[in-house]
Amino acid sequence: MTRPAPALLFLLLAQAASACRAPAGTLAGRRVIDLTHAFDEQTIYWPTAGGFELRVDSKGWTEGGFYYEANSFSSAEHGGTHIDAPIHFAEGRRSLDQIPLEQLIGPGVVVDVSAACARDRDHLVSAQELQAWEREHGRIPDGAIVLLRTGFGEHWPDRERYMGTDERGPEAVSKLHFPGLHPDAARWLVAHRVIGAIGLDTPSIDHGPSRTFEAHQVLFAADVPALENVANLELLPARGFEVVALPMKIRAGSGGPVRIAALLGGECVLAAARAMHAREAVGQDAATQVAPQLPAHAPRQGPRSSHRHRRGPGRSPGAPTGHGARRRARASGGGTRAAMPTGPWGGLALRAPRKEDRRQPCGWQSPWAQDGARVPPGP
Ligand SMILES: [Zn+2]
Repeated sequence: MTRPAPALLFLLLAQAASACRAPAGTLAGRRVIDLTHAFDEQTIYWPTAGGFELRVDSKGWTEGGFYYEANSFSSAEHGGTHIDAPIHFAEGRRSLDQIPLEQLIGPGVVVDVSAACARDRDHLVSAQELQAWEREHGRIPDGAIVLLRTGFGEHWPDRERYMGTDERGPEAVSKLHFPGLHPDAARWLVAHRVIGAIGLDTPSIDHGPSRTFEAHQVLFAADVPALENVANLELLPARGFEVVALPMKIRAGSGGPVRIAALLGGECVLAAARAMHAREAVGQDAATQVAPQLPAHAPRQGPRSSHRHRRGPGRSPGAPTGHGARRRARASGGGTRAAMPTGPWGGLALRAPRKEDRRQPCGWQSPWAQDGARVPPGP
């Protein structure tokens, strides 16, 4: 690792010291780190999905004497740095526009599992690894956005190193190899912690060889969305920062591109500056900027404690209620889902729903789940 030059180190220490002197609740400046990969022709999508397209509609000088540019773009929902809405794998759960903003803005934690993932590129992050993180750093706070750093984000945009293959099409799906979250770890998280969202620096919250996407199913049944292809996790400390992850508000979307930022202050600024310096020393784009005078950050309120840890049978997902569900039913023509072509997870042949599909993946219910009074304030 490259050591910071003395002058830079002094600057960093001075910056951290001044942040430490700031009265509680106020910050002289907060560092903003972009956790988003840019969308362009290199952006990584699932092997069966199309890529990102930007088409130039106008570009140049007009007869009116002014310059004018405008483009159109198209993209699959699930590619690049994006969010999976719960409805992606859980019938009747929230679509992209229905995810409460409170779940997408919150305290961030980074669980660094990069060593295990370097040994095994199909590594499944276990509940034990999450518990080991807590022994070192404290309990995962309520409302947290949990980020798993597998280290694979540093392979972007090399498809072969990042996801195991640079081939496209349905046959390529069986060649995917990258780490993900163990379904049992997903169960532990939604049953024992109150997280707003989870994310990682791979193409999917389930690892590459998964064929049933069980971590997706467990998280989404509890209305916990997933952030995928998250960038720059190596620039973040284990905790002590906030995350803002705002997707485009696509009505009835199953997911979509998301811009994710981490806001750092105090000691975290120093840690990030060290990481950025190390990266700049090897000529990589640190993709960061400083926002000098952001207002003091008020800690967000977690979900009300009365909402926590309810166990027992969950609501039946088979009968979505409320105007959101009715709107979706209208939008889909009242149940044309089975007629849809294969989605971005391609090769998944769809069939008519069966009775046994209506069971929950497990018997608990998250505080974020969308039934009546248990719903946190949202759109
Ligand atoms: Zn996705």
